[in-house]
Amino acid sequence: MAAKTLRTPESLAEAGLIAPERVAALAQVAAQYAVAITPAMTGLVDPADPADPIARQFVPDPLELDVDPRERADPIGDDAHSPVPGVVHRYPDRVLLKVTHTCAVYCRFCFRREMVGPAGEGTLTPAELEAALAYVAGRPEVWEVILTGGDPLVLSPRRLGELMARLSAIAHVKVVRFHTRVPAVDPEAVTPEMVAALKSAGQAVYVALHADHPRELTPAARAACARLVDAGIPMLGQTVLLKGINDDAATLAALFRAMVESRIKPYYLHHADLAPGTGHLRTGVAEGQALMRALRGAVSGLCQPTYVLDVPGGYGKVPVGPVYLSQAADGACVEDPNGGRHAYPPSLP
Ligand code: SF4
Repeated sequence: MAAKTLRTPESLAEAGLIAPERVAALAQVAAQYAVAITPAMTGLVDPADPADPIARQFVPDPLELDVDPRERADPIGDDAHSPVPGVVHRYPDRVLLKVTHTCAVYCRFCFRREMVGPAGEGTLTPAELEAALAYVAGRPEVWEVILTGGDPLVLSPRRLGELMARLSAIAHVKVVRFHTRVPAVDPEAVTPEMVAALKSAGQAVYVALHADHPRELTPAARAACARLVDAGIPMLGQTVLLKGINDDAATLAALFRAMVESRIKPYYLHHADLAPGTGHLRTGVAEGQALMRALRGAVSGLCQPTYVLDVPGGYGKVPVGPVYLSQAADGACVEDPNGGRHAYPPSLP
């Protein structure tokens, strides 16, 4: 296993993840979009599999330079709802707080790929962080703060503890949620000190783990999640539906079961956003709906996330899963998990 996070095409070649002759082509991609693969993820890649689902998430691809005119740098419209740097206030009762735009890994399909990484928006300066916290403190309607980015769990336990202390001083903030890949992609970073820092504030703290393939839930990743859950931090799962990586029912079922076994409730299956150069990893919505239908009934209800689409332009996130109820002339028609159709309420005998 590579001992360090791989950040260049040359290092990918040295680690055997790409053929040396691909270095030049991938350098063009890496010049535009950041690259990072942690040792934990490198160790999961099967170099003999050209379609390896872990490699496809993190190893750059020349197809990333093919941009569809409908793709956009800010696909979910963060900028339209950003009153001060680092804050996105799209919905009344919650804000995103993007303290850092650094990540432990850089996903090739990232919806914020133009903002993250060394050439991205960086980490908030102390003055920007003060302004962001003042914004939250001045909005009594903000019930929940969602730490995202970037990946907030790349911050040191000391900085996380400071941040939690500041948020705990804002009485109307009752819930703090972290969005992260760290427990899976860098499980050793989830130290007792980090767990204590997250717990320090007294508000309800949730950690939403982004994981896209069951292989990511290694014994070390499950142990890292257990450290969080055992400390009283509920965990949610977020998954991006990705072509050739997890767009089959068996893979999704295995992933959602692995999450539930790890006491992580699958929360959202995201339709992949229209981020630039990500068309080769995006499915159609109809395929996502068919996958959700295949899971319904076949897999425990605990393993069913909501399939959602972020409406391009910053209009918000909506469920786009299959619909089982339709109107009929004399009432409603409901479809069962096997496709059978039934009047509701049932006709009189
Ligand atoms: S960890 Fe999240 S923010 Fe970072 S590159 Fe991946 S999807 Fe983007």
